[in-house]
Amino acid sequence: MKNTRKCPKCGGTDIRMVEGFVGAAGVGNNLLLGLSIYSGIPKNTYICCDCGYTEEWLNKDDLERVRSSKKAHRI
Ligand SMILES: [Zn+2]
Repeated sequence: MKNTRKCPKCGGTDIRMVEGFVGAAGVGNNLLLGLSIYSGIPKNTYICCDCGYTEEWLNKDDLERVRSSKKAHRI
C-alpha cells in the first residue's frame, strides 16, 4: 500500500499516511525496543479511506536498530 498507493483489500486509491512519533513516556504510534523512550521507533500508518484497512511501516533508517535489538527475534 505504501509503494503501490493502492489498497490490497479493496483496490481503493484514497490512501492517507499518518506519521508515527515517539513522545514523552513513549506515547505516539511507535515500537518500543527497550524501556526508555530512546528505544522508540516511529511507525507510519497508511490508511485506506475507502475501506478502513491500515498498514504500518517503519522508516528504513531505523531497521538497523531493529536488527541490533535483543527484543526483536529473528524467526
Ligand atoms: Zn481499502
